[in-house]
Parts: sequence; C-alpha cells; structure tokens
Amino acid sequence: MTSAGLLSLYDLTQAQLAEQLAQWGEPAFRVKQIWRWLYQRFIADVDEMTDLPRELRARLKEHFVIGRLQPVAVQRSRDRWTRKWLFRLPDGSEVEAVLMEYDGNRRTACISSQVGCAMACSFCATGQMGFMRNLRAGEIVEQVIWIARTLGQSRLTNIVYMGMGEPFANYQSVMESIKRLTTPASEGGFGIGARKITLSTVGLVPGIRRFAEEPLQINLAVSLHAATDELRSQIVPINTRYPLHELTKATRDYIRKTNRRVSYEWALIERVNDTLEQARALVELVRQTNPRDDANLVHVNLIPLNPTQGYAGHAPNLKRRYAFCSVLERAGIPFTLRVRRGIDIAAGCGQLKAETTRCTDE
Ligand code: SAH
Repeated sequence: MTSAGLLSLYDLTQAQLAEQLAQWGEPAFRVKQIWRWLYQRFIADVDEMTDLPRELRARLKEHFVIGRLQPVAVQRSRDRWTRKWLFRLPDGSEVEAVLMEYDGNRRTACISSQVGCAMACSFCATGQMGFMRNLRAGEIVEQVIWIARTLGQSRLTNIVYMGMGEPFANYQSVMESIKRLTTPASEGGFGIGARKITLSTVGLVPGIRRFAEEPLQINLAVSLHAATDELRSQIVPINTRYPLHELTKATRDYIRKTNRRVSYEWALIERVNDTLEQARALVELVRQTNPRDDANLVHVNLIPLNPTQGYAGHAPNLKRRYAFCSVLERAGIPFTLRVRRGIDIAAGCGQLKAETTRCTDE
C-alpha cells in the first residue's frame, strides 16, 4: 500500500487508537501519550514520540501516516494579519484554511468541511466550483493542527467552520472533528472550549434540528442573506427545499432548546439585498425567530460582499451600508457590520476555492 492509502493517526478516535494498541499488547496509557504528541505538540514524524518504545514507533509507522494534508501554498495578506493555506490531499483534491489574527489576542482558524460545495450559492466561490467530496474528520482536524503548529506558543483561540463546504452536509465527520478538538488537554487532547467554536450552515433544516440535540456548547450561525423566499431562492438555491418559514422555525426551536444565541449571516450585495425593504423584512424574521421576550437571542452579522469571479454583484458603499444598519438599529436588533479581511489574498468569506494559480510568499 502506498502512504497515500494509509490511515492517518488523526483519523482515529481515542477509542479506536486504544483498540489498536490493545491488539498490539500495549498498555492503555499509551493513548494519552500519543495524543499529546499529536494534539499538543503537533509533531511531524512518529520518531519524535520519544517516550514510546522503538518497536511501537515502528508499528505505528508501518500502519499509519501522521497526516494526510500537504501544504502546497501559504499566502499572507498585505496587512500581515491574515494567512491562507492551500492543502493537497492524497487523492489530489485541495482545500483551503485561513488564520485570522486580531490585536485583542484573538486568533481564529477558519476551516473547510468539504472539497467544494453542493449548495451553489451564487455569490460564493466555493459554491461556484461545485462539490467534489466530503472531508474525513481527521482531514478537518489536521487543518487546525497545521495552523496551531504555526502559531506555537501564541495559541489558537477560536475555530470557525466557515471555510469550503456545508458542515451539515458532512454532519458526522464534522461532529467527530469537533469531539476530537474539544477533547480536554488533561486527556491528551487539543482542549479548545466548545464555546470557542462556531459552525455556519446554509440553512439545512434537518441539520439544525439534529444539532439542537447535541450535548455541545458550539455556536451556530445561519447564512440567511435574504428575507423573502423570492430573493433567497435566487441567491441561496437550497431555499427552495427549506424555505424561510421552515428555517426560522427550526432556528427558533434550536434557540428554545439550547438557550444559545444564533447569528444570522448576511453578505450585503448592492441593490440585491441591501434595500430598506429587505432590512425591514429581516427585522420581521429576527422577531419571528427569537423565542424570548426578555432578550434577543438572534444576532445579525453583516458582511459586505467579497468579490468572486463568478458573480457580478458587489458590496454597497458606506452610505447604503449605514442605511441598512439604521433600520436594524431602530428596531433594536443586535447586529455587527463586519470588517472585511484578507481580501487581497482571496481569503475572505466565500472566496475559498483552492485556486490552481499558486502564489507563495513564505
Ligand atoms: N456553507 C456554510 C459555511 C461556508 S461560508 C454556510 O453557508 O454558512 C461562510 C459564510 O460566508 C456564509 O455565511 C456564506 O454565505 C458567506 N459568504 C459566501 N460567499 C461570500 C462572499 N462572496 N462574500 C461574503 N460572504 C460570503
């Protein structure tokens, strides 16, 4: 078998690794030892696991590779705060992941859950490229490990599932990757808190309902982008399958069940969804979604559209942005107008597509 066909150590849960080690007659404490090397020290070679017996290292190397992701390009934005990696997988497919550093000690990894995406949102570069395949849990986890390795001591503080792909269309692997990344440091895991993780969905209603049942404190973002079915079906085609009344109801039920705040994502597109009518309709949807009288648990995240090759629309000017915001403000809807980041290296929301023209500046 070629190394491309071997399982990666990041593909294994602790239970699977324990089972393999038991078969080899190894003591149970080796699981934690190995995980510390993988999830806390981010080693690149099994031989760096210096507290393991030589024979065990040889066995591990015979049966597993450490990782399946090969970085083929790294780009850094002009302001230096955003970095983007292009990774190649053993089958030749490619995914991107982004690191965003903020002054206030926040360092966020934006990771991909699929190679391409089947949702076909018109303004999204990943949607424009179509769907190739789901990522395995280990392939999702490894993106975080690569970024964490680069950061070293200045640790990663947040993870967002907002890269390529629709997380709820790859539900099981995404959940498995979250379980692995939130395994406590005391158990040898990466140990990031669930509250530091955000998952963004295009609005797959069965996914939202299933997610509400998970015993996890992960943040949920829902990509709304339009407040009428007519418009939403044009730019987010999955709306024809899960229209707004079903989506807002599922989101409401999710909030009621989990008591957690949800974000509605809205890429502002000039003269498409930045009109006052859309803003007013959005206010209505937020009110319908929020199940609480005493607090608003629906937050609106406005992102001025990032340019993509396959879509002609563009971000509205400041005046139009503020006009839209003021409708929300007057209605008392909590919102954030996000600052665009990493646009010069196509690392902004919806710009990831594993371009074939490489640019390496590091
Ligand atoms: N499939 C998931 C996650 C990936 S995209 C989802 O749809 O939520 C992460 C966010 O970026 C989504 O809200 C998506 O709609 C938004 N986005 C996509 N293309 C964009 C663009 N060109 N400009 C700004 N935001 C965009």
